[in-house]
Amino acid sequence: MSVGVVGCGGRMGQALVREVLDNPRTVLSGGTERSDSPLIGKPLRHPATGEETILKITDDAEHLFKVSDVVIDFTCPTATNLHASFAARHKTAHVIGTTGLSEEDEAAIYQAAGTVPVVYASNFSFGVNLLFYLTRLAAGILDEDFDIEILEMHHRHKVDAPSGTALSLGKAAAAGRGVNLAEVSERARDGITGERGRGSIGFAVLRGGNVPGEHVVSFNADDERIELTHKAGDRAIFARGAVKAAIWALERGEGLYDMFDVLGLPKE
Ligand code: NAD
Repeated sequence: MSVGVVGCGGRMGQALVREVLDNPRTVLSGGTERSDSPLIGKPLRHPATGEETILKITDDAEHLFKVSDVVIDFTCPTATNLHASFAARHKTAHVIGTTGLSEEDEAAIYQAAGTVPVVYASNFSFGVNLLFYLTRLAAGILDEDFDIEILEMHHRHKVDAPSGTALSLGKAAAAGRGVNLAEVSERARDGITGERGRGSIGFAVLRGGNVPGEHVVSFNADDERIELTHKAGDRAIFARGAVKAAIWALERGEGLYDMFDVLGLPKE
């Protein structure tokens, strides 16, 4: 099964190249980078061993979609939007981990999913997907006497906030309570904010160091607190999940899927 990696020079791109090369079920078909990247024309190497492959890094994403069974995409919203059109045109399965997408970017993904299998998830780790499930379950059991707050921390280079995973945790909590996240979320607090709204779901964001991702969902009542926590130790957990999703997607018809589908976790 041939797997291409767009954005192969990025933090996740390198973890993905490593995972695709190391996985006995996958063959790396190529990697792309931005046109102005110094990596263009350089050989694609195993990120851990430095061993060269016969492939060269290019900026021709359309060609990569053409020659691959599936392309894994952890880049940026504008690139992912364009890549979705290549996926549809060349009937290539598309696994998308990019976060911070606008409604317009997501519309491009939904359109491609009418033609090819697309797995789009804010987090590809097994542990975080279990956390989504547990969050929905706990939020459905605990009433509004428990204030829900979601805290996330990531490395200093992350450009979007709150993280896509934190927003998905918010959606999971809102789904458990049977409410719409957009109507109850408190995204930023600064200055005289007034008291916390009963039933709201709050977000807090920390940035620093090289933290791959930490998320805490806390349910806070008078005199007691329940916390559900996930700490990612290495980006390999997302890369492993994305390659698992790529293998899974090839046996599916067109449609939009997420990691609950890939992992067989209950959606209700
Ligand atoms: P990064 O900046 O290190 O990597 C992004 C790479 O994409 C860069 O190398 C950049 O040059 C490249 N790129 C940008 N535009 C391109 C284009 N048009 N063609 C080819 N390459 C292009 O960022 P990162 O930390 O690797 O994260 C990438 C994305 O993945 C972010 O949106 C991040 O939030 C997301 N992410 C998702 C998960 C998940 O499990 N879903 C996990 C980690 C990160």
